Amino acid sequence: MKNLFSILLAIALFSSCKTIKPNESLASVKSENSNPTVPSNNPIIKDKYTGDPAALVYKDKVYLYAGHDEAPNDFNFYKMNEWLVYSSSDMVNWQEHPVPLKVTDFAWAKSDAWAAQVIERNGKFYWYVTVSHGTINGKAIGVAVSDSPTGPFKDALGKALVTNDMTTHTKIDWDDIDPTVHIDDDGQAYLFWGNTVCHYAKLKENMIELDGPIQTINLPNFTEAPWIHKHKDWYYLSYAYEFPEKIAYAMSKSINGPWEYKGILNEIAGNSNTNHQSIIDFKGVPYFIYHNGSTQPNGGSFRRSVCVDRLYYNSDGTMKRVIMTSEGIQK
Ligand code: CA
Repeated sequence: MKNLFSILLAIALFSSCKTIKPNESLASVKSENSNPTVPSNNPIIKDKYTGDPAALVYKDKVYLYAGHDEAPNDFNFYKMNEWLVYSSSDMVNWQEHPVPLKVTDFAWAKSDAWAAQVIERNGKFYWYVTVSHGTINGKAIGVAVSDSPTGPFKDALGKALVTNDMTTHTKIDWDDIDPTVHIDDDGQAYLFWGNTVCHYAKLKENMIELDGPIQTINLPNFTEAPWIHKHKDWYYLSYAYEFPEKIAYAMSKSINGPWEYKGILNEIAGNSNTNHQSIIDFKGVPYFIYHNGSTQPNGGSFRRSVCVDRLYYNSDGTMKRVIMTSEGIQK
């Protein structure tokens, strides 16, 4: 029996070894040796440029909201006028829905459909967005509302929720961007946002008014893109670190801190100077969603593509460093 096993093993080893014949190109051998059964699922959206992902788990689906990089040939900055929404039941197959929200849906805004996040409360969906304000200098945060996670959404307030003049910790006029929202276990909602300075404030139960003062959090090398999430009994505040951006994070036992810095979570994303994470659990599996510039080698920072990879927690609650892959999530 042992001899038979040895013979079968030898046959298997022999058949797996392959010498390159003179008439075979290296490319064909390489291609043959790669695993064609594993598709490249990253980026997850290949027919449009998408940036600043924010995912919402609702019932048995994930809804992915992203900004749309229009990326005209002669434009070397962000050209973004609308947001997009996709849904998935398995994190592999994504369905696009009609455009749910545009800058022009906010009468007081003038441009820049920048980073945003949607949250559900009492059957309504609230979408916190970054835009440029039409009359108050600088960026601002607006909020839209819908009865459906796929919209259509409409301006919930008729004016900005946060304007540049409400926060004066830095002189820049783009410090009021990148809102992230969380409803704590006791029902209190919080909005975090910022560039250079990380701000946060309570939201009233109606989700369209701040409740109390705007506070700040000191985080090492905070650039922008805060994302607040809870996993088991820990709160996590991840954010873009330095520039070009890595993603770092801090942890706390309370959403009000104190926050303890825990290090780098994700390295610089290929060909993009931003990275912009969204972190969720879906059907018991943690995911790290981000963007890179992998689709377009020319000007990737403004021609971004959303990707998804697995996220892993250590037993002490810290997060393992993300490994960005071409394969992405496989069935
Ligand atoms: Ca400000």
